[in-house]
Amino acid sequence: MKAPVNTEEVRGLVVSVTDVGERDRLISLLTAERGLLTVYAGGARQLKNRYMAATQQFCYGKFLLAEQGGRYSVREAALEETFYELRTGIDRAALASYVCEVISFTGTEQPDTELLRLTLNTLYAISRALHPLPHIKAVFELRIAALLGFMPDVDACAYCGATEGEFVLHIPEGHLICRDCREGLAARAEQAEYEGAAQVALLTDGVRAAIRYILHASPDRIFSFRLEEDETHLLSYATEEFLCWHIDRKFASLAFYKQVID
Ligand SMILES: [Zn+2]
Repeated sequence: MKAPVNTEEVRGLVVSVTDVGERDRLISLLTAERGLLTVYAGGARQLKNRYMAATQQFCYGKFLLAEQGGRYSVREAALEETFYELRTGIDRAALASYVCEVISFTGTEQPDTELLRLTLNTLYAISRALHPLPHIKAVFELRIAALLGFMPDVDACAYCGATEGEFVLHIPEGHLICRDCREGLAARAEQAEYEGAAQVALLTDGVRAAIRYILHASPDRIFSFRLEEDETHLLSYATEEFLCWHIDRKFASLAFYKQVID
């Protein structure tokens, strides 16, 4: 007996597209209602197809899906936002691709309104160039890390409780170490654990304040802070190392973004 066909309307963002044969597409759709779904879009590559526009990467819209036996296909699609400016600069396109690759890797079929909102807000900020790209990148990386359950604690040194001075973020532990405690650890021959180049990130007071801001700001205010350019680069380094270490993944799109960013 065939499984019954259920239909459901969702709002979703196309995070990746794979061509299938001559006519069809398989899309990865991030929805609030059903999390990240793989959806078959039959005929979507044909010029006259009514889903063609809405089933391209970075497109957001309303989709009527048919589900049968756990497989989804597109019945109807109404495009609401194309983020077309993402395609007008190679650096913007590269960062947007990285955002989508992170979503593709970490997404699940759990409903997640926050994840969709973060992703849409990030693509919007990139497309309208609301902030420098490393600023937007850092906010996205830290917020998605937090949504996945990884939150650095940047309030005080994890060893002595110092709240002022020079700190590094220990990437695997997600905690702060002050200069004195680093020197103490090194003196006790524990430097192998704490001195690995990829294991720590330098944090200035401004970067620590930015991290606290990003973690605690309401979703519609996450990008609204200012940081000097050199500190933005420190922040972006720290958030990237933190996210990629904790989800244990290197992204090809991130390597490409780093090649094309000024
Ligand atoms: Zn300390």
